[in-house]
Amino acid sequence: MVEHRQLPTGETSTHGPESRALLEVKEFVTEFATPHGRVRAVDGVTFSLDWGRTMGIVGESGSGKTVLARSIMKLTRGSNVKRSGSVVFKGREILDAPPREMRKIWGLEMAMVFQDPMTTLHPLHRVGWQISEAIREHNPCSRTEARDRAVELLRSLGIPEPDRRYRQYPHQLSGGMRQRAIIGISLACDPGLLFADEPTTALDVTVQAQILDLLGQHQAERRMAMVLVSHDLAVVAGRTHDLIVMYGGQVVERGPTAAVLNKPLMPYTEALLESTPRLDSPSESRLPTIPGRPPNPVAFPPGCRFAPRCRYAQAQCLTEAPPLVADHVGGRQHRCLLPVGSDAATHALEVNHRKGKTAAGVPMEFFEQKQVT
Ligand code: SF4
Repeated sequence: MVEHRQLPTGETSTHGPESRALLEVKEFVTEFATPHGRVRAVDGVTFSLDWGRTMGIVGESGSGKTVLARSIMKLTRGSNVKRSGSVVFKGREILDAPPREMRKIWGLEMAMVFQDPMTTLHPLHRVGWQISEAIREHNPCSRTEARDRAVELLRSLGIPEPDRRYRQYPHQLSGGMRQRAIIGISLACDPGLLFADEPTTALDVTVQAQILDLLGQHQAERRMAMVLVSHDLAVVAGRTHDLIVMYGGQVVERGPTAAVLNKPLMPYTEALLESTPRLDSPSESRLPTIPGRPPNPVAFPPGCRFAPRCRYAQAQCLTEAPPLVADHVGGRQHRCLLPVGSDAATHALEVNHRKGKTAAGVPMEFFEQKQVT
């Protein structure tokens, strides 16, 4: 459900002076060499993020959002991975930083919450020990001090009986508690920047909301910047200041979250929104889905990468790759030749309805809301 709420404003806008940004990502590319060819999973992404701000990154699975977050942190490694562009964190270029330097940054200045706590937590070590080790890794302190801090962290994360939980193993905790413990490890050293990659996907809706609220609360208290990666628009709505929508490895829409969700300019964002449940959706209607599948990253289609699935697609969309352009209002960007709401888009829809199909040959009935029979 897409819901809006009031967020702390943070230090400055992400659209503010570049020199003040905590993180500046420019023309960032991540490629993988595979037996099927070179895969450009992240294709020329640019954005900046300031202290205290939250950036949402959304898109379907395979859109490049997770690879983007992990590559910025340099967690995608191996001889088949090639990164280019620029990632400046706290004024330092870290794209070419050696592993020794990155180890000092991970955990202490930049941390990540992964989606599956069972693969992040070591099953043979007590939960509390894992948090205190994360604290001791970067802070010169005694075991007792680290333990006290870890227990306090568990308490602040809403874990009941933190002393007892500290001594337990991951399998003795519920899914929600394990995810809180992971967040505890990530926050142990007060990082300036936290990446949260689908942090609540494996949890039920009530626990999801509690964990996301908790992350937001800790972020506001610590003036930490956060990148919240999700496939779910309902997760980022009201919890992020700015939003990046990714498709086929590229940024296809970007701007203040509320503006993007209230008035999407990119047909892909519009389609994602339509496939998100709303309280005011008629109960007898079925949620629309986006026809087709995300593009094959080994061979992206010429022209617009969304054209084979877009209800507005015209002949020009099949041959002309749209650039990311700035909209005239509100610091927004989109990658569409016929942005939603424009006269050109309205005309394109009329043409496609008349023909009964898009220029890519998709029958228009695929885009109609389905009635439950
Ligand atoms: S460029 Fe054309 S195909 Fe691509 S999103 Fe815009 S209208 Fe759709």
